[in-house]
Amino acid sequence: MNRFVLSSLLALLVSFASSAQTTSSYCGTPPGKSEWLQQYQQQPTPVSARSDVFLYIPLTIHIVGTSEGEGYYDLDQLYPSLCTLNEDFAESNIQFYIQGEINYIDNDSYYDHNFSQGSQMMNTYNKPNTVNCYFVDSPAGNCGYYSPWRDAVAISNGCADPDSHTWAHELGHFFSLPHTFSGWEGTDYETNMEVPFFLDNGGEVELKDGSNCAEAGDGFCDTPADYLSFRWGCNGQGQSNVLQRDPTDSTFRSDGRLIMSYAFDGCSERFSEEQTMAMRANILSQRPNLYANPPEPVFLDTAPVAVAPVNGDSIGISTSAVLEWEPLDGAALYSVVISRHFPGIEVLLQAQYFQTTGTSVLVEDLLPSASYRWTVQAYNRYDGCTTASEPAVFSLSDPVFTSTAEAAEAFQLQVYPQPAADGTPVTVEWHLAKAETVQLWLRSAAGQLIRQQQLPGQAGRQRAQLSTAGLPAGLYLLEIRTASGLGAYRKVVVQ
Ligand SMILES: [Zn+2]
Repeated sequence: MNRFVLSSLLALLVSFASSAQTTSSYCGTPPGKSEWLQQYQQQPTPVSARSDVFLYIPLTIHIVGTSEGEGYYDLDQLYPSLCTLNEDFAESNIQFYIQGEINYIDNDSYYDHNFSQGSQMMNTYNKPNTVNCYFVDSPAGNCGYYSPWRDAVAISNGCADPDSHTWAHELGHFFSLPHTFSGWEGTDYETNMEVPFFLDNGGEVELKDGSNCAEAGDGFCDTPADYLSFRWGCNGQGQSNVLQRDPTDSTFRSDGRLIMSYAFDGCSERFSEEQTMAMRANILSQRPNLYANPPEPVFLDTAPVAVAPVNGDSIGISTSAVLEWEPLDGAALYSVVISRHFPGIEVLLQAQYFQTTGTSVLVEDLLPSASYRWTVQAYNRYDGCTTASEPAVFSLSDPVFTSTAEAAEAFQLQVYPQPAADGTPVTVEWHLAKAETVQLWLRSAAGQLIRQQQLPGQAGRQRAQLSTAGLPAGLYLLEIRTASGLGAYRKVVVQ
């Protein structure tokens, strides 16, 4: 590296660091236009950028946790956020997929990093020929930023929920877009301020009438004037609530639908046509390595189907349940949500979340006699826009009240002595119509498994003994079940 390059690099880094001090906490991308964009905006749009060729771009996902491996960005957020990202870019005919495995990094100084640590992180972990995206707790105090030097984006987990457009915003920067309020970074527009034709940093202020749109602001003429470098809310038409006044005294409101503005997520939804053309030209002319060999995407058109427990099932007394579903073609990850069910209440209460590549999960610490509702949703590297299975509601019945009279009668189940003194074994007797294996479970009233026995059952009258040695006095629940699914319950009292 010669001295000139080194000193200009240092100058860049210095200006980056100083600008970073003054940006708001939304986006830490250094302000200004890349040399490429400046040239692009001075020349006619290259023909290739106007073509309808579909651009399918690989992302490398880096999920950064603490040094103890905690605080990871949740995959339950990642895939739906990929869906939002692809919706944001759908009009541009640019779509994204996750390439390779997700890269988990455990490092406190990357999890909550300053720009220099972030730069080191990107330098260490960037994968070539993909767009590197780092999900961290705090990317230098911002919601996100694009690093032109490392050519990667960092996004805060807190700004990466599926309703957020931060990911699209930072990828807009990645593909050359400045803010719609370009030039105003670090300058607070105030309602009563007299706006000059030129800002202190030399930037020309974009006029409402569009007469200087090619030179001022972001240099795009289909993104109207915008002076708002802080996060702002919009009205029903997606325009800024703040009424701005340009140097000629014309008043206007900014377009909050534009993702490259600082409007709140609820306003953001699109890139303008000129922004889209610039991004496509940037990819086609500067980043051919990104779309060289696009894979054939696999979309998940249907939702997974629950196998067990299905809607309406009662699975008997237990504090655990195995949730099982049919494998879905093309699925790479299943995301399961189970929550308490109360008829008519839609909020997820006591929800537990699971992710697996398999087709079942074991859920523990359930409340015996409670009802639960569960769904499963499938994702893969191409498709975050999927739907969950139909909710299935099942109950962990209280056997004292729900043991079916019929089953109990068929078993002719007897348990004695009742109550049993501590140390005295409890005798269990039952009747089997045919020879089949029988399982016995003794559980505490809270559902904890105390004893378990499996017996090769013969037809006719059967008997087994359960030790009560060491059991605290109290109520216990005995469950008996045959291989063919017949079951019954009895209370067992230990004194
Ligand atoms: Zn930004």
